[in-house]
Amino acid sequence: MWTVDEGIATLRERGAKITAQRIAILKQLQGRKDHPSAETLYRELSDFYSTMSVATLYSTAQLLEEAGLIKILSIDEKRVYFDPYTKTHGHFFCRTCGKLFDIHVKEAENFENALIEHDSIAQIEHTELFFYGTCSECVKI
Ligand SMILES: [Zn+2]
Ligand SMILES: [Zn+2]
Repeated sequence: MWTVDEGIATLRERGAKITAQRIAILKQLQGRKDHPSAETLYRELSDFYSTMSVATLYSTAQLLEEAGLIKILSIDEKRVYFDPYTKTHGHFFCRTCGKLFDIHVKEAENFENALIEHDSIAQIEHTELFFYGTCSECVKI
């Protein structure tokens, strides 16, 4: 997991402009384990930064993903979620309450090695392990 300073350094290396808004987004995402949605993050940030816009949030998220600082999870067709932990790991999405959390999958980081070789693939750059179902809280109701 990266620190805000490391995030800024990574962006600088890539020639990206460091703006107050980008720093605010890095700060808000750093070390998070709760996978905030774009809406949640926007709500949190707009409380402090009245100039924050949804467009800035999305374009910065794109930049952070390209820099390898976050993953943009498309696990739910209704909204996107951000994850600052970028190593391959599993995600579980509860279809009843919408809860999203990490799940540990054996050998997830080497998951690509488990694939049966395929002649048509030259290189894999991105892997997602999405699991859908009902969480234990929702089953009790
Ligand atoms: Zn649930
Ligand atoms: Zn995660």
